[in-house]
Formats: sequence, structure tokens, C-alpha cells
Amino acid sequence: MKIDLKAPAKINLSLDALYKREDGYHEVEMVMTTIDLADRLELELISSDEIILDVRAHFIPNDHRNLVYQAALLLKEKYNVRMGARITLDKQIPVSAGLAGGSTDAAAALKGLNELWKLGLSLEELAELSARIGSDIAFCLYGGTAFATGRGEVIQKLPMMPSCWIILAKPSISISTPSVYKELKLDEVEHPDTKRMLAGIEAGDLDAICDSMGNVLESVTLEKNPKVKQLKQKMLEFGADAAMMSGSGPTVFAIVKQYSRAKRVYNGLRGFCSEVYMVRPWNDEGINK
Ligand code: ATP
Repeated sequence: MKIDLKAPAKINLSLDALYKREDGYHEVEMVMTTIDLADRLELELISSDEIILDVRAHFIPNDHRNLVYQAALLLKEKYNVRMGARITLDKQIPVSAGLAGGSTDAAAALKGLNELWKLGLSLEELAELSARIGSDIAFCLYGGTAFATGRGEVIQKLPMMPSCWIILAKPSISISTPSVYKELKLDEVEHPDTKRMLAGIEAGDLDAICDSMGNVLESVTLEKNPKVKQLKQKMLEFGADAAMMSGSGPTVFAIVKQYSRAKRVYNGLRGFCSEVYMVRPWNDEGINK
């Protein structure tokens, strides 16, 4: 038996950090949406009782350091599974980019293995379990557009993102998410208007969504990385309706209503950055066959 899954990346439409909790994490409020830029996973039942991970990408581990491996092991140990699986991961999502690449792969692995091993677990059960290995996996399990709170693992589904074009630019800079949160000065940052964003999504109003985008982590990443700031400015100059950094960066994205203008932003950006993508929102369930 074989299962093929697509695991889409996410962008943050807003990201706010409210305060630092006693467990060291920040209490966050994030509005996220999945986009049509996806990794592909193939899961196959094997006769031996082991997990074999085959990663089709350079510089990504195929052992316990990979979130897919951790997800498989978690499910196997928790439910005492005596079966094995071979998982082939074909990476298309840029790594360490603020696009939840590892988390969406882990979500796809949980969904696929739930089916392959016939565990019969609900999405809620998988989401609860996933929080043990990463805060963003729960969102990736649900997909679509959602409001994430807590440390990101408490998910409330929202209506789908209105139709638009999304242009992503990923500069070749490495960003460590924990160090960005560490340097965040919560009393100095401008907090996004999350309520307005939620109302915009509920109303399917793309203008309101564009007007209320905000990410507190830009205050750290943009200031330390002029390239990221430049890409954001260029997107706006080329005619984007809105532009912002996703997660802790370094990927920045533009939202554009019109196709012709989106093409202009895409082509313009390619002169400044080697990794540029033009995609649409992914409005189906998070992980699809
Ligand atoms: P987030 O938006 O959740 O912060 P990210 O997009 O910034 O995530 P990832 O692409 O998930 O970052 O990768 C971050 C690190 O996780 C990398 O150092 C990578 O080696 C490791 N990693 C573990 N599993 C995976 C995976 N399946 N795909 C990509 N990276 C992985």
C-alpha cells in the first residue's frame, strides 16, 4: 500500500507576540494561510518494523533530526505500532524560510501514517499529539486559513482566503527563529490589529486583509538584514497591494489582486533575488492527495 500526499507551505498574514510565558515561549496570535507551494511525500508500508526516510534534497537530515521522522516515531511509540514505513520526501519548499516547511511535512506524515497504519485517529487527536514536536504542525494539519494562539498550536479555522496572487522572495540568508524571539522588544514594537485582520477574513475582504497585515518579528529581522527590507520595499514599488515577511523570515511575500500586476512584481523581483515564486492561496484541506 502506498499513499501520496502534498504538504503545502504557509504564510503569516499577521503575527503578534503578546508576552513571554513562564515556559519560555511567547504567547502568540497568528493568522496563517496555506499556499500552493508544496512538498510531496510518498508513504509505503514495508515488511520490516522500522521507519526509513529518503529525503530528495541536499542538506536535510534523514534521521531523528527530521520532523517527519520525529512525527512517525511519535505515532509509532504512542500507539504501539508494530508496522514500518518507507517515507520519501521530495522538498520544494525553501528550508528555514519562515514557511513552515518542516512542520507541513510532519503534518503530512501524521495524516498519511494514520491512514497507512489504520489508526483511525481524528484530526484533533493528531493535532494534540503534534504539539509535542512542534507548535506549527497543528495548523498544517488543518490547513486553509486559521487563527493560531497559545504558542501557535491552538487552532481556530477561518473562512478561506479570497482569490489573489502571492509572490514570494526568499533571500539566501539563514535566520534562527529562537534568536529572533529572543531579540524581540515587546514594549517597543508596533502590534498588528489582529481583530481587524480576523474581520477582514470573515468578510472575504482582500483590501481589509492587506491593510491589516503586520508581523512583530519584522522589527528584528528587517533591521538586521537590509536585503529582506529591500525586497519588501521592491515588492511595494513594483505594485504589490501589500508586502510582509512570513514568520521569522527571511521570506517576504506580496499580495496582488490583478494577474498583470502580479507578473510585474514577480518579474521585477527576479532581478534582485534568485528564489522567487508566484503562487495562489491553497484553499483545500491542508494536506491533499
Ligand atoms: P517555521 O516557519 O516553522 O519557522 P521554517 O520554514 O523557518 O519553519 P523549516 O524549513 O521547517 O524552517 O526548517 C528549519 C530547520 O528544521 C532546518 O534546519 C532543517 O534542517 C530542519 N528540518 C527538520 N525536518 C525538516 C524537513 N522535513 N524539512 C525541512 N527542514 C527540516
